[in-house]
This record gives sequence, structure tokens and C-alpha cells, in this order.
Amino acid sequence: MMNLLTVSDLEVFYGKVQALQPTAINVDMGKIVTVIGPNGAGKSTMLNAIAGALPATGSQTGNVLFSGQNLVGVAIEKRVAVGMSLVPEKRELFASMKVEDNLLLGSYRRYQAGEKEYADQMRVVYDLFPRLKERRQQQAGTLSGGERQMLALGRALMAKPRLLMLDEPSLGLAPLIVKEIFQIIQRLKQTGVAILLVEQNARAALQVADYGYVLETGAVVLEGAASDLAEDQRVVDTYLGLTKK
Ligand code: ATP
Repeated sequence: MMNLLTVSDLEVFYGKVQALQPTAINVDMGKIVTVIGPNGAGKSTMLNAIAGALPATGSQTGNVLFSGQNLVGVAIEKRVAVGMSLVPEKRELFASMKVEDNLLLGSYRRYQAGEKEYADQMRVVYDLFPRLKERRQQQAGTLSGGERQMLALGRALMAKPRLLMLDEPSLGLAPLIVKEIFQIIQRLKQTGVAILLVEQNARAALQVADYGYVLETGAVVLEGAASDLAEDQRVVDTYLGLTKK
């Protein structure tokens, strides 16, 4: 198994307040790894620290090894260049721009580097999201919530990442759309990209993931194969119990 991301001793502070206790996370190539946990557990904080996207008020220590390269202190653009791509919780699209132009911005760095195959990648993205293709001339700001999430995912994929980091892709979406987004995440795995998926929807996340971590008040309290976590009594009681079907 080839390791892609190895995070160790990662700690984050906002001022004097510690939001993340020393944390270790691993993602192997081509695998889906999920981090589940309640509101405020530190999931976004962890993802942003790995992606180099913490706000200026945040500070981090520890190691983020990606393909053997330590990325601590490395700027976010550089992380994108080596194959990391983050879809933040707020999705951050350019509302007044067309769908297709939002996608093109996702490949901007590759375009700048003189790589010409962004058109091929656009085809890959349109195959995954036919709805985006239909709406390629539409202003991003007029898309539905689900379509916006698809566009955010599609734009991240335009950079041809090796690791896609998703912050609560199901947030604010209706159950049917959530189902569709998770089907897409499953399909993405077949393209070979590894996925680090932060979710409050533990049931859906554990269904698509290979491995999972449970984060509570800034610390990993449990980890294991996703199928084992889905059966773990503590996980069932706290995260799955009430909605178990
Ligand atoms: P949610 O699912 O609600 O997004 P989360 O697990 O992603 O929660 P974080 O957003 O990482 O949790 O927040 C972890 C803790 O850090 C919380 O107590 C939060 O209030 C705090 N925090 C997050 N961002 C900041 C910030 N920019 N400045 C100060 N404190 C912050």
C-alpha cells in the first residue's frame, strides 16, 4: 500500500485556544479516508491545516508529509501544484461567472505552467457531472445547492489532484442530493484520486470510506476500518444510533 499523506503531531491554536490536540492521520493512495465528529470538534481546522488554508489567526505545529515531502510552511498554491486540492465548506465559487469559467479557474495553475490538457480534464469533469455540462453557460450564483457542490468538486478536479480534501460536501443539501454527491464520491475513487472526507453525516461517510477517524473536542478518540467503525458500539450510539435502519 503506497502512502500518500502522513500527518503527525499536528496541533492547531487560535490565539491561546487549542483547537486540535496532537493528531496523526494517514491516507493511502487511491483510498477514501473520512474524519467524522460533531460540530466544533475541529474537523475543518484539521483539514485547513493540512491544506495550508488556516486563517491568519490560526497557528499550527507538526508534520504534514505528502508523497514524502514535508509541506509545513509551504504556501497553498505550492500544495495545489504538488497535487493537493481542497473543497472548503463554503464552496467559494465565483457567483457572477459562468460554470465553465469557474471550472477553467480550477486548472489555471496547469494552464500557466503551459500544460495543454485542461480540455481533456474538462471532459472528465463533464462526464462525471453531466448537469454541469448542460449548465456550462449558466452563472454559478444561480445554481442550486447541489449543483454548486458539484461545481466546487469539479473545479477542484480540474487541478488533477492526487488528494482531494472535502469539507462537509453534504452540508445543507436535501437527502436525495446528498445521496447523489456520495455516489459521485464513490465514482471519483475509481479515477485513482485519494479522498480525505470530513463529514458530520457519519452514516454516509462510513459507507463510502475505507478508513475512518472519529474526532471529538480536538482529538482523535477512535480510528479503524470504516466497516468496523460502522459497527463499533460507541460510534453506533453516538453517531448512527438514532437513524439506524
Ligand atoms: P463544524 O462541523 O461545525 O464545521 P468542525 O469540527 O469543523 O465543526 P472547527 O470549525 O474546526 O470544527 O472548529 C473547532 C474549534 O475551533 C471550535 O471551537 C471553533 O469555535 C474554533 N475555531 C474555528 N475557527 C476559528 C477561528 N478562525 N478563530 C477562533 N476559533 C476558531
